[in-house]
Amino acid sequence: MIKDRKIPVFLDTFLLQTCFDNKIFTLALVNAGQQIFYFNTRTLVLSTGCRERTAKQVFIHGTRPSGVFTAGLAQYIVNIQGFLPAKKCVILGSGDIELIMARRLTLEGADVLGVYEIKPDPSGLSRNIVQCLDDFNIHLHLNATVTETHGKDRVEGVSVFSVD
Ligand SMILES: Cc1cc2nc3c(=O)[nH]c(=O)nc-3n(C[C@H](O)[C@H](O)[C@H](O)COP(=O)(O)OP(=O)(O)OC[C@H]3O[C@@H](n4cnc5c(N)ncnc54)[C@H](O)[C@@H]3O)c2cc1C
Repeated sequence: MIKDRKIPVFLDTFLLQTCFDNKIFTLALVNAGQQIFYFNTRTLVLSTGCRERTAKQVFIHGTRPSGVFTAGLAQYIVNIQGFLPAKKCVILGSGDIELIMARRLTLEGADVLGVYEIKPDPSGLSRNIVQCLDDFNIHLHLNATVTETHGKDRVEGVSVFSVD
């Protein structure tokens, strides 16, 4: 539909700044091939989504070994690249994506040691608790969180603490 309407698409292009003045938005953009360039528009649809948070942003301390993945990266490695990112792993968080990844990694041959959830209740659907964890004997630990990663080059362990 975008092609049919000949709407220009700018790939590899990052929106740096929006200013609103006199009922006009001025957008500052940059891409790999050009210097900063600008657009003026009366209407702006912001659809920049959200982003996953890294280990440090969720207060996990310790070393910075490889082997710590966001759910999105783990999905990309398994589903798109066709590799197994871990032989043994723990999963932090019990949202539906995490539950689905616990099952997916198990089916692909990884040993999922447990799913840790800081809250007293799981975040994901009951259906996913049953079908992704219970059916595969993966234990869900509630009121528990990972506080530290260990290992120099590759993650070798994590510290898990109970929280009240
Ligand atoms: C790990 C994971 C698994 C998921 N699995 C599912 C699933 O199985 N089923 C489901 O329905 N939903 C799933 N979701 C949720 C779904 O992906 C999101 O709800 C959906 O992608 C949101 O769409 P969006 O267009 O709002 O944002 P996004 O898809 O995040 O799109 C935003 C776009 O804006 C771009 N952008 C950001 N900032 C700028 C900037 N400054 N300048 C230019 N471009 C910028 C980004 O590069 C990106 O391309 C999953 C989410 C995650 C994180």
